[in-house]
Amino acid sequence: MQNYNDLLKENLDWVQKKLDLDKDYFEKLSKGQNPPFLYIGCSDSRMPIDTFTQSEPGSFFIHRNIANQVFPNDMNFLATLEYAVEQLEVKHIIVSGHYECGGIKTAHDKCRDSSIISSWLMPIKKIEVENKEELENLKTEEERLDRLTELNVLEQLKHIFEIAIIRNKIESGKYPKIHGWILDIRHGKIAELEIPIQDWKEKGIIPKEYEI
Ligand SMILES: [Zn+2]
Repeated sequence: MQNYNDLLKENLDWVQKKLDLDKDYFEKLSKGQNPPFLYIGCSDSRMPIDTFTQSEPGSFFIHRNIANQVFPNDMNFLATLEYAVEQLEVKHIIVSGHYECGGIKTAHDKCRDSSIISSWLMPIKKIEVENKEELENLKTEEERLDRLTELNVLEQLKHIFEIAIIRNKIESGKYPKIHGWILDIRHGKIAELEIPIQDWKEKGIIPKEYEI
């Protein structure tokens, strides 16, 4: 664990390492950004997606909040999404959850008080209630929480597909591909969730023009 007093020193060490490898590194970085990915993930401190994918600065345009929620009335999120899609023209949008997520656990265990965090997590409680039968058929608490984590990502993907900015892009024929990920924090590996594209098209969640 780093001490506060070490952070700026570590920064200088890192800058020097980068310059040793490429003396123009920061000059190039400062020219502008053209990230191929918009990443929507959890605020959890163990989830720096650049590290897990060995990516350099400039790869991911990022929006993070507790339990990777996508709310169609969240101005912070909508501004990020609009900028990523309209200005940066990202090629992919990734919503990523992770196992052992404190937000998912809180929604499952004790999302009943009047705190702000309970209000924030209430939509996950709703997902749990809507999928009660499937979740209760799983054998262990860990399996139930893992599945709730996956269902949460799928629900957020539905929200993305329903936002006008995205629907308009899909209908125009030039649009980013949308993906759901789970980062398995127990093993460090990322798995891609299967999106039921056909089923969601039939239900009107995904515009018919969308192709993988
Ligand atoms: Zn989390």
